[in-house]
Amino acid sequence: MSRTAILDRLRKVVGAQGLITDARDMEPYVVDWRGLYRGRTPAVVRPSNTEQVSEVVRICSETGTGIVPQGGNTGMCGGATPSASGQEIVLGLGRMNRVLELDALNNTIMVEAGCILANVQQAALAADRYFPLSLGAEGSCQIGGNLATNAGGINVLRYGNARELTLGLEVVLPDGRVWNGLRGLRKDNTGYDLKDLFIGSEGTLGVITGAVLKLHPRPRAQLTALLAVADPAAAVQLLARLRGACGERISAFEIISRRCLELVLKHIPGTREPLPQPHPWHVLAELADTSDAGPLRGDFERAVAKASDDGLVRDAVIAESTAQSQSLWRLRETIPEASRDEGLLYRHDISLTVSRIPQFIATAGPALEKTFPGVRVICFGHLGDGNLHYNCFVPGRRRGDAAAREATDVNRLVLDIVREFGGSFSAEHGIGQSKRGELAYYKSALELETMRALKRTFDPQGIMNPGKVLPE
Ligand code: FAD
Ligand code: ZN
Repeated sequence: MSRTAILDRLRKVVGAQGLITDARDMEPYVVDWRGLYRGRTPAVVRPSNTEQVSEVVRICSETGTGIVPQGGNTGMCGGATPSASGQEIVLGLGRMNRVLELDALNNTIMVEAGCILANVQQAALAADRYFPLSLGAEGSCQIGGNLATNAGGINVLRYGNARELTLGLEVVLPDGRVWNGLRGLRKDNTGYDLKDLFIGSEGTLGVITGAVLKLHPRPRAQLTALLAVADPAAAVQLLARLRGACGERISAFEIISRRCLELVLKHIPGTREPLPQPHPWHVLAELADTSDAGPLRGDFERAVAKASDDGLVRDAVIAESTAQSQSLWRLRETIPEASRDEGLLYRHDISLTVSRIPQFIATAGPALEKTFPGVRVICFGHLGDGNLHYNCFVPGRRRGDAAAREATDVNRLVLDIVREFGGSFSAEHGIGQSKRGELAYYKSALELETMRALKRTFDPQGIMNPGKVLPE
């Protein structure tokens, strides 16, 4: 069937307003958020309900047309960008943005996949509930994309990542059939858990069209503190202490190295040194309590005082207002922006067991320095989850230098040490197209073969997000 005939069939399903074919209008859909990947597509198809998604996928299945699902297009790995072949349609979920049901007593919300994350958070708050998934892109990323990438963010320590926040899913399978698993059950041991297969599959097994998500009681008291520590080992000890003293109330525990803070102070207007003296490492901790009459601050202050007496904490500041809390968070959240203009950045989104992080940092830094003298390590991230954004600049390598971008030597050095420590080369951003090589290199043959078998079972034609996740 000719391309025109396929587009005509698709237009009949989604209507003229649901099909974009003008090159200028398609531009935002064919380039990824960081501008690292660019593809081509004959059309961006934007269905408005699950039946339309099903019809679109059926047409693609019949005609062997590749489908690239796309949410807010904020992913970090080129997973939502079509290939350069110009043969794959982009399936944009943005029009499917309705909140379908909020069950306050069951603490669940049922949404369409195209709902923007911030709108789901708002809908929960309007019902005096809390949806804890929170990340820098929340104003434009979509729930479908969050689930397809099993997104993490700043509250994983307390509430888990996207997978742990999901009770039910609706998915259009690669042949167009609809699996309705929109259940709000907290217990359901009825065979294999299909939803957990689709979560994190980055659009390679089917199109997520809806979800039932867990809500939590709304926090009423909040506490943000920045604590100075001597080194990552002290930070890990402090985390254990605070968890003992404050339990589940700790929702975030982020580590920031001196170098990160200096970059922020240099590049981000309106930021300033948070404590009277400079320190080598900082921890940003966020705690929340569902009761505002509770002893949150007292418990925290007592634990910090004891940690100071024992030499774990060198200095600390507790935010006294929302504005102060926001300015402390700004120091953490603007690190990626602050490191953008310094040169070519090698990024690593790695995870390790929390207990091994100090040893990893102590090993990786000197190993990098030995091979790349003068290397600048930008180490920060979600310490409470064992997830570091362990990035680095290598002297002499500038952005735009094609040879440097292609070089795998820096990544290999860092990721080999991660493997040695039993960690993962991709903690929260997924694989997409950028980390397929790493998947082939670091996953065992058994894991790769099992993944390929699953892909063949769900998508024998290979039309779902071709060229993503699985290596050739
Ligand atoms: P997209 O980028 O559109 O797609 C991502 C992948 O999911 C692609 O493979 C796509 O094909 C697939 N997909 C999208 N929708 C569907 C669907 N409905 N069905 C099937 N497959 C689908 N990520 C974190 O985990 N933690 C963070 O803290 C974090 N912080 C970020 C901060 C910033 C400033 C930015 C720009 C990104 C950040 N990210 C973070 C990465 C990104 O926001 C998340 O991966 C997010 O979950 C992607 O959602 P999206 O809707 O933009 O998905
Ligand atoms: Zn992160």
